[in-house]
Amino acid sequence: SYGAAFVVRWMEAAAGAVEREAGRLTELDSAIGDADHGANLRRGFAAVAEELAKEPPGTPGAVLVTAGRLLISTVGGASGPLYGTLLRRAGKELGEAGEVTRDGLARALAAGVAAVGQLGGAAPGDKTMLDALTPAVAALPESFAAARAAADAGAAATVPLRARKGRAGYLGERSVGHQDPGATSSALLFAALEEVAA
Ligand code: ADP
Ligand code: MG
Ligand code: MG
Repeated sequence: SYGAAFVVRWMEAAAGAVEREAGRLTELDSAIGDADHGANLRRGFAAVAEELAKEPPGTPGAVLVTAGRLLISTVGGASGPLYGTLLRRAGKELGEAGEVTRDGLARALAAGVAAVGQLGGAAPGDKTMLDALTPAVAALPESFAAARAAADAGAAATVPLRARKGRAGYLGERSVGHQDPGATSSALLFAALEEVAA
């Protein structure tokens, strides 16, 4: 099972991945949005990494709640409250436990994904982060590698979809043929999780 330090390493790896891929995320968002997804997440995850380095909470749940709270307060775009809700809700689901199993993390993240759907009113197929998050969380009980592969496949599968939510939703047919930025960043989160679990 996994303790608070593991979740801190996950958030640090996510911050690193977002930092490295910020250009690509912003490029994708320039095609069907307002070209700020990379900058938004870079700011948010840098704040998360900084806070966790200063004062790491003692349980996996508290790490996720802190990370989620910081994403909500530092990211200007739609993705901040959505990713913040994902992590905060997952953290609350874990409660005060000092350790979490992969199955427990999968259950907590599933609650987080459901909360994202409620907050944003989107479902899988709407060309949002949920197209990567939903299959990734469903595959997590199998393995970290399966979750990462499912997230990658889910992000790639957004290319032919027509966006129904967020800024890209206003483009209608013109959103077809582009990969969703949020689904792409969600795949980075699961790549980071696989990386730290290895
Ligand atoms: P903004 O659109 O406010 O500039 P970002 O560019 O940071 O915010 O994030 C855009 C991403 O947020 C989209 O690619 C999509 O994946 C996700 N998103 C937007 N609206 C929703 C929603 N209602 N439900 C789920 N995800 C959404
Ligand atoms: Mg944007
Ligand atoms: Mg914006």
